[in-house]
Amino acid sequence: DARIEGFDPELAQAITAERRRQEDHVELIASENYASPRVLEAQGSVLTNKYAEGYPGKRYYGGCEYVDIAESLAIERVKQLFDADYANVQPHSGSQANQAVYFALLSPGDTILGMSLAHGGHLTHGAKVNLSGKIFNAVQYGIDPATGRVDYDEVERLALEHKPKMVVAGFSAYSQVLDWARFRAIADKVGAVLFVDMAHIAGLVAAGVYPSPLPHAHVVTSTTHKTLRGPRGGIIVAKNASDDLVKKLQSVVFPGIQGGPLMHVIAAKAVAFKEALEPGFKDYQRQVVKNAQAMANAFIARGYRIVSGGTENHLMLIDLIGRDVTGKDAEAALGEAHITVNKNAVPNDPRSPFVTSGLRVGTPAVTTRGYKEQDCVDLANWICDVLDAPGDAGVIARVRAQVTAQCRTYPVYG
Ligand code: PLP
Repeated sequence: DARIEGFDPELAQAITAERRRQEDHVELIASENYASPRVLEAQGSVLTNKYAEGYPGKRYYGGCEYVDIAESLAIERVKQLFDADYANVQPHSGSQANQAVYFALLSPGDTILGMSLAHGGHLTHGAKVNLSGKIFNAVQYGIDPATGRVDYDEVERLALEHKPKMVVAGFSAYSQVLDWARFRAIADKVGAVLFVDMAHIAGLVAAGVYPSPLPHAHVVTSTTHKTLRGPRGGIIVAKNASDDLVKKLQSVVFPGIQGGPLMHVIAAKAVAFKEALEPGFKDYQRQVVKNAQAMANAFIARGYRIVSGGTENHLMLIDLIGRDVTGKDAEAALGEAHITVNKNAVPNDPRSPFVTSGLRVGTPAVTTRGYKEQDCVDLANWICDVLDAPGDAGVIARVRAQVTAQCRTYPVYG
């Protein structure tokens, strides 16, 4: 049988069930989105068969004339999208894009200064359990618990004290606008490279609804599957990069840390970048932020604290410190109501990272479905109903029915 369904019913069932889950559950994980059918089409194409080590026009394999077109389109489009003059679209993931930047610019034992995981940074920004925290001497900054915002004076103090070779800015859980110019000034003060990981906000940046780090950073990485709404993957971009930096980045990605590029994924990136260049993408990203702000205001109106007091991007952190319900239990209760969120540590969290006292909520996926502010306010109120009574099966059943009806109003793939 040529199709999965006839050949491998067990796997086919899992795929069908996942598709149904994506349609019938509301997705509020801030790092997720729904790729378009066009992106899925490219990713499921015969380009997966092709080895293409090297770069367009300079490959180590024959027969690369068509994948060269795909990769060149992806490069030109992403450069246009971010007003970059350098782009590498081959990193298999955000983590590998970050690894490439580290190995292009640092030696083992060098000091890096990045945001701690517990305060909203990413694992790859120097967490002890990640290669970035094992190979380099990682010093970590956090956010001021009183304001929920980055304390730039503290970042500067740490930079002056530890003299990092690289300052890392970017986040996985922070709801405010970062001051890229201030980060650059701090890096310049100690002669460090400024590396920005814009994985979470790349779509907002592309649409001009969040300030671009490219004019300020020496080098920028991103994933392509979050707000950018493409296939899972990574990119490296830069503006005004020196020839030396470009040479190092190119050779670290291949042959330094990767082998053959995933040409089907690169083709899917090219499609996603073309979609992001369409005028409708700006409307989408503006709606993402409006939806997040509507939700944050609704949570606050119901008496829930939002870290930093609100949001200027696509996500927010609900602070559950002092409440009986933990992040872990809240995630599970909301999951039963078909609302998918993730537990997240909040500043000064007294609970362990596996339990936590917070929830991260993001609007990129629901906005792709077509949710507007009122839908998001309804959703926020149902979330509060569950958080107010996490053990109440009746409330969970009622919210699940409301969520299901709302999801059916906004099908993902139809
Ligand atoms: N950088 C940031 C800021 C992220 O939030 C993430 C993913 O969550 C990554 C990098 C890693 O991306 P990937 O999961 O593609 O390795």
